[in-house]
Amino acid sequence: MSESTTTFSALGLPESIVSALTEVGYETPSPIQAACIPLLLSGHDLLGQAQTGTGKTAAFALPLLARLKSDAANPQVLVLAPTRELAIQVAEAFQKYAHHLPGFHVLPLYGGQSMVVQLRQLKRQPQVIVGTPGRIMDHIERGSLNLDGIAALVLDEADEMLRMGFIDDVEWILQHTPAGRQTALFSATMPEPIRRVAQRYLREPQEVKIRAATSTVATIRQRYCQVQGPMKLEVLTRVLEGEEDFEAAIIFVRTKTASVELTEKLEARGYAASALNGDMQQAMRERVIEQLKNGQLDIVVATDVAARGIDVPRISHVINYDIPYDTEAYVHRIGRTGRAGRQGTAILLVAPREMRMLKTIERATRQPIEPVVLPTREMVTERRIAQFRNQIMAAIREGSLDFFFDVVRGIETSEGISAREIAAALTFLAQRERPLQPEARDWAELPTPAPERPARANREQILTRRREVASGRLARYRLAVGRQDGVTPKDIVGALANEGGIDVSQIGQIHLFDVFSTVELPAGLDGETLSALGGLRVRSKSLRMRPYHEDGDSGFRPPRGAEGTTPRPPRDSDAPKRARRGSDDDAPRPRRWKTGSA
Ligand code: ADP
Ligand code: MG
Repeated sequence: MSESTTTFSALGLPESIVSALTEVGYETPSPIQAACIPLLLSGHDLLGQAQTGTGKTAAFALPLLARLKSDAANPQVLVLAPTRELAIQVAEAFQKYAHHLPGFHVLPLYGGQSMVVQLRQLKRQPQVIVGTPGRIMDHIERGSLNLDGIAALVLDEADEMLRMGFIDDVEWILQHTPAGRQTALFSATMPEPIRRVAQRYLREPQEVKIRAATSTVATIRQRYCQVQGPMKLEVLTRVLEGEEDFEAAIIFVRTKTASVELTEKLEARGYAASALNGDMQQAMRERVIEQLKNGQLDIVVATDVAARGIDVPRISHVINYDIPYDTEAYVHRIGRTGRAGRQGTAILLVAPREMRMLKTIERATRQPIEPVVLPTREMVTERRIAQFRNQIMAAIREGSLDFFFDVVRGIETSEGISAREIAAALTFLAQRERPLQPEARDWAELPTPAPERPARANREQILTRRREVASGRLARYRLAVGRQDGVTPKDIVGALANEGGIDVSQIGQIHLFDVFSTVELPAGLDGETLSALGGLRVRSKSLRMRPYHEDGDSGFRPPRGAEGTTPRPPRDSDAPKRARRGSDDDAPRPRRWKTGSA
């Protein structure tokens, strides 16, 4: 937030609210807050236009909280928000700001949640309701939401509600609330239909317009990396490794499929990642955001729609894996970082032919976009060692190592070796999954992007694989586990490599189908090997491996010549990408597992 000389008290907010703000760490009002709070406090209607991340929630929540009457039984404030996530976020903000208001209740109401639960919660006499238009209408029609006491109504992200087709519902709700209410409408843009709503339902509104982007973008360091499509993943992982202040990232892609596929690839490389896209059920999306907040996830691979409005202060990086369609989308995307006055980084992967877009963005945001310097192998080694050192120090700080001291001392005496030798061996063991020093062969020179053709290393890989399959060195085998069992390629590789003892280099492509999957392994595996591998379990189901015959097996047939990508059959669109759970203990096994033994 940019500098502002005023304070929350000076804007006329009561002490009870100001003290809650101090607790959440707000120092000064943001520009839109400074402009809106006095107006709303004095009862004006308001038309506010500002980009995301400018602090609109507090701009309306604080003054409306200050105006609550303590003796009313019915809801006094109604906020309409486009999505369930945003409704929850706004409700949480109200709750925080109202920390010192005794008996305060705020209730989010959205579709998908049980009516029974909501009806029960309504009985607790919430003063503030934050809801999505559809569900609010339901409650009004049922008579379960009494609007007689509504003194203020807020339309948050009005343009988004318009875009999602809610505008008629919003008008209907406006018509059902008391005519004497105070109304505030917030929107990032002011398309004509929104203006019309404002003209019809707001009374002599005061207009507040905060000039776009620049203030939001000021805390974000913008960078780019030129890269050709086939090398994107490699470049992405190197970029991630090279970032000093990395905490969590949102990676933007253009399609839902890409969000799932990239997530799988990152998970396979050991990242705690999850997809976030419009196909996922709301509850699942919320869980993902929650896990990103609490550190169970570090990376969310999202589409624009699904990531809109996300406010997770941990997000240190926004990566534009696929370039956004326009500068506005870009500004929205990078606004997911640099939240709450923190420093953030935005990195754009850009193909040579997209460089013009980069220039356009630079002009629009009035900020230079600097090139990323990819880390060298030595730098990565150094960073991994530093992380390892931190882990050790954390374990020491946490204490209760007595038992382990004894174990080490026992080994020292029985083997006649030094603690240092033991430590070196343990270090070796601890890094086998993810070598402290990246293997030289994993560290192929990244070709400087040349226009048009795929990068050479990649073409060679593709050709080699084609040759292997053609020469019969690899064959497809069928496994009796599929998407419906929740398996991922990583699970399968994990089972085959770790328990089945198959070298990862011998595992080819994996295709997931609903009820089964296929994996490429050396051709002609004998019956004994097959039954040994077939006895392995993934997600507590046995693999029951057998040679795969395309004609005899129903299901999707991967397109020819699609090597190098995992072709994806149409999938149950409601089966969301599983989020990784838990702590580091159950970290996904990286694919490079075996390399340590080489
Ligand atoms: P918008 O609705 O405009 O997108 P939000 O209301 O979601 O913005 O606020 C964006 C972020 O800024 C939130 O994390 C919020 O806690 C933080 N924030 C809002 N106002 C202030 C302030 N005055 N000082 C510091 N952080 C703030
Ligand atoms: Mg908002």
